[in-house]
Amino acid sequence: MQEFLLAFFLSYVVHTLGLTIGYHRLLSHRSFHCSKAVEYFFVASGYLAFQTSPIWWATLHRAHHRYSDTAKDPHALMYGFRRCVYGWIFDEKYPDHIDPEVMSKDLIKDPVYRFLDQGGNVQRGHILNGFLCFLFRVPILMIWGLPAALGSLAAGLIIQQVTLYFNLLSHIPKIGYRNFATTDDSVNNFWLALITMGEGWHNNHHGCPGSAKAGMRVEEIDPAWYTIAFLRKIGLVSWANDTAFEQHCEKLARKALGEVLNISVVPSLVESPVEPIPVPVSASSAK
Ligand SMILES: [Zn+2]
Ligand SMILES: [Zn+2]
Repeated sequence: MQEFLLAFFLSYVVHTLGLTIGYHRLLSHRSFHCSKAVEYFFVASGYLAFQTSPIWWATLHRAHHRYSDTAKDPHALMYGFRRCVYGWIFDEKYPDHIDPEVMSKDLIKDPVYRFLDQGGNVQRGHILNGFLCFLFRVPILMIWGLPAALGSLAAGLIIQQVTLYFNLLSHIPKIGYRNFATTDDSVNNFWLALITMGEGWHNNHHGCPGSAKAGMRVEEIDPAWYTIAFLRKIGLVSWANDTAFEQHCEKLARKALGEVLNISVVPSLVESPVEPIPVPVSASSAK
């Protein structure tokens, strides 16, 4: 039992960080810079938690930001529980309005990601991912035994479920609070942040998608950001978008003011290229 729990805990931490840092903050949002070796380490850690093709994941996530909570959002809550949580992963191909050749040009250049994407055949990409995830546990079984292999497998499968339910829970206004008056229903939730190593500050993330930090206030704990900051300290991350919460508010307020006055001299924000510009709560309520 001890081996199972130890393997589970270690795997949960490593794979969750791979997902949040590798798939989300790096591939989907390019919120920090690092070497290809560091990138592959985190992306592989995410991949082995049943997260399937990095191109598919990042492309649909970029689409989620672009079309949040509208009919074009690939896992919008408006389509109901089934579609929002897991129905969308059974699509055979990318939705017609989401073209990875357009939305993920940067990722398509990478031959490893192209291979894992299986030419855009979504179901084949999922099957390959499942096969490699089980294959990865074979050496664990041979070296550390069955409890360790099962602990690793359980962590991977639970992370997959957490990711799917996260899409639902992070967009239910009743179970969280908002720092930014974004046009979607995203909220910040402490428990979600705890089990996802910082991703639960989802309204902050929709407000500042280009930021490597999801936790914006001191009390909003963000282990993924602490890890990125540590890697920057030891030289494995060369740059990270670490704009402070107050600066985001100030810039967004200036941007909002610029739109109201219809002037174009407002400095542009460091944002994800596919994200609409939101307005901070303080600025929108002041109007
Ligand atoms: Zn969202
Ligand atoms: Zn995102």
